[in-house]
Amino acid sequence: MVVCTKCGSKIEVRKVLLFNNLNPITCSVCSSKLRAKNKRFFYAIGPVGAGVEGVFGVFLLGLFFRTGNVVYLGLVGVWFAAVLLGILLLLLKFLKLKVETEGP
Ligand SMILES: [Zn+2]
Repeated sequence: MVVCTKCGSKIEVRKVLLFNNLNPITCSVCSSKLRAKNKRFFYAIGPVGAGVEGVFGVFLLGLFFRTGNVVYLGLVGVWFAAVLLGILLLLLKFLKLKVETEGP
C-alpha cells in the first residue's frame, strides 16, 4: 500500500497509476506534494514489464498464427492483463514516496 510520508494516509490507487515524476502526487488529506523516492525502481519497472509482456505476448501470437487456435489469442489477453496487474501490485508494494512540498 502506498501511503503519504507526511500524514500516513492512503494514496488512492488511481493517483498512483496516473503518477509520473513530472506530476507529483498531491495527498488528498494534508495536500503535501509527493514524489517517488526509489526513482530507479520506478523507471525500471515500465521497460522491464513491457519487455516481459512483449516477448511472451509475441510468442503466444506466433503460436496462434501457426496453429490457428483461438485459445492462444485468449491467452495473450490473459497474459497482458496478468502482467499489468503484476506491475500494479509491485508499484503499490514497493513505491516509496518522499515529501517534496509540505501542505499547509
Ligand atoms: Zn498526507
